[in-house]
Amino acid sequence: MGSIKCTVHECQYNKDVMCDAPMIQINHNGVRRANGSEETQCDTFKPKR
Ligand code: SF4
Repeated sequence: MGSIKCTVHECQYNKDVMCDAPMIQINHNGVRRANGSEETQCDTFKPKR
């Protein structure tokens, strides 16, 4: 997988502001058609314990 920079440091996959997950899934965020990045979301997010 290519490098994915992510600033969501509270995700358990985040390592030094990079995503360390083997794959991620991004979905629409409550809309049928996204018009901007704010209408997408990372569903692979898992909070750190
Ligand atoms: S799984 Fe999603 S939220 Fe978590 S580090 Fe990767 S890109 Fe960021």
